[in-house]
Amino acid sequence: MRSKRKIWKPAYIGLGSNLNEPLQQITMAIENIKKIPNSCYILSSKLYDSSPMGPPDQPNFINAVVAIVTQLKPHGLLLELQKIEHKQKRIRNELKWGPRTIDLDLLCQGQEIIEDDILTLPHPGICKRNFVLLPLMDISPDIMIPRLSNMVDLLKKIENNPIRLKCLE
Ligand code: AMP
Repeated sequence: MRSKRKIWKPAYIGLGSNLNEPLQQITMAIENIKKIPNSCYILSSKLYDSSPMGPPDQPNFINAVVAIVTQLKPHGLLLELQKIEHKQKRIRNELKWGPRTIDLDLLCQGQEIIEDDILTLPHPGICKRNFVLLPLMDISPDIMIPRLSNMVDLLKKIENNPIRLKCLE
């Protein structure tokens, strides 16, 4: 008889905010992530202040990465993250990379590789964004992300990234 026990997989979530008290938004999002069902919070990275990737006439972002373990399937986890964005009044507009109260990206989940209309895993932005890679390095320097090289090589590739990043701790 096949066991119905669900397996736990590590998942990494990228957080960003530049509206309505970004520090509080990030703290609130971490508290909300702790309540995601069938999942356990593990730890959070340091907080980073980053210059905006999109239109320059917007406030700097606060960024962080959170690690959890979860029994949810990736699409189920994405839905939970979108519920948190909705709860924290994220308003979607036409402006790509515009200001937002909270942005939650599912960076990777175990060794899952997904490319469909709803979800891309690993998140395609990981390897280009210092405000994702540095906090990820804080909490998981040995991580092996499917299709990507190790953290040291990834960090070398973004050495000249124009986004200014400052660790807040
Ligand atoms: P954003 O504006 O960055 O929050 O993008 C949200 C859209 O990206 C949603 O429609 C998601 O379905 C889609 N998406 C695809 N892959 C991911 C991912 N790995 N994490 C978060 N959103 C994703």
